[in-house]
Amino acid sequence: MALIQCPECHKEISNHALNCPACGFPLQSTNLHSGAKKRSQAQFLASVVGFGSHNFYLGFYLRAIIQLLLTSVGLPLLLIGGILTFWFPLGGLSLLGVGILMVLGVLIWQLIEWHRIKTQSIKKDAKGQPLV
Ligand SMILES: [Zn+2]
Repeated sequence: MALIQCPECHKEISNHALNCPACGFPLQSTNLHSGAKKRSQAQFLASVVGFGSHNFYLGFYLRAIIQLLLTSVGLPLLLIGGILTFWFPLGGLSLLGVGILMVLGVLIWQLIEWHRIKTQSIKKDAKGQPLV
């Protein structure tokens, strides 16, 4: 526990207090926002960086790991399949197809989540803190 200064009456109070005990100034919102995640940052990660990075950022680790795995397995499959197609058309095209499905699946999934963050259908991070 640390002591902070009340922004209203400047008395020393606990940083866990919801209201200043002296003047009643509400502190909950300022405390909550200290570690708040940015909506714009989450959108940037979902639309540009990919690999589940926006879910890592927001703390949704299960979704993030699934997206990371699908992308990092799907991309090499896509490349290897594409190259193999020249020598082994059937096997190469199968790998290519599976790779495309995995990568495309994650891209569509991320696009939906990007849209849900943008339209505030996703309003909070995994800890329940509102996005700012
Ligand atoms: Zn106060």
